[in-house]
Amino acid sequence: MSTSTTSETASTSQRKTALITGAAQGIGRAVALRLARDGCWVGVVDLKSQEGALTELKDEINALSQDGESRAEVIIADVTDVKSVKNMVDTAVRITGKLDIMVSNAGILKPLVPFLEAPLSDWDDVMDVNARGAYYCYRFAGEQMVKQGHGGRIVGASSVMGKKGRDMVATYSASKFAVRGLTQSAADALGKYGITVNAYAPGHIDTPMTHNTVLPSMGFTKPGEVHRTLAPKEGVLGRTGSAEEVAAWVSFIVSDGAGFITGQTVGIDGGMHFD
Ligand code: NAD
Repeated sequence: MSTSTTSETASTSQRKTALITGAAQGIGRAVALRLARDGCWVGVVDLKSQEGALTELKDEINALSQDGESRAEVIIADVTDVKSVKNMVDTAVRITGKLDIMVSNAGILKPLVPFLEAPLSDWDDVMDVNARGAYYCYRFAGEQMVKQGHGGRIVGASSVMGKKGRDMVATYSASKFAVRGLTQSAADALGKYGITVNAYAPGHIDTPMTHNTVLPSMGFTKPGEVHRTLAPKEGVLGRTGSAEEVAAWVSFIVSDGAGFITGQTVGIDGGMHFD
């Protein structure tokens, strides 16, 4: 699959340029809106099947603009495809002249199945998007930022399952440990260029992933049930989190004030896991 934009408008603004993968829904959508409200130009990236949702998001972001300046662009890309990810970075650079922030958020979770019963194909499917996809995003964003010579911010999506493995989520957990390792390695490699690399490690967040995959796999049929039964058992705060709470952390970690933090994978999990 190749990368394309649905429309391109030249931007001459001095805004920071951010790319967010998996932006059509859930955490990625909240991050895109938050960074746009913070003043960034955002490339909202997702699969072709999500083009309608991305266009709505782009329109919502552009409605924030006081003067009609374009503040967002739809970029279709599959993070498992190397050409697609390269083109995603090139597209942002072509439109805005640079890349300052890469949020590698796209990820998938397969239905929860005991370790000994999971389809063997889950390994390739999950590692392809969650680990390979993150590697390509970190790699090509890093190359571009080094070339520019003025630092940058790379942010990845790990998970509380990237800190402690569990039955039922073996391949997912392995992929999220991979994101942690990648985050540390990239931070080590890119620190000398003023580029910080960090990742979020959410617990149970109210998103389509949780509603469509986690809850049905655990026998929950009504969305509200997770608040009453699962969340109190799993985190000391006794509730699920919102995508906006993850986005608030991303807003901080890409800010100038977070310039001395790198290589970290930070729990946003209501106290499910203490480092
Ligand atoms: P979600 O399923 O609601 O959204 C994920 C988005 O990624 C979708 O829009 C999807 O189309 C996109 N995507 C999937 N494969 C892609 C590909 N190959 N290329 C480009 N885009 C692709 O998920 P979410 O809950 O918003 O999670 C976002 C990230 O946070 C994921 O990496 C997820 O693993 C991680 N995470 C989520 C939770 C949670 O509780 N929701 C917890 C821990 C970690």
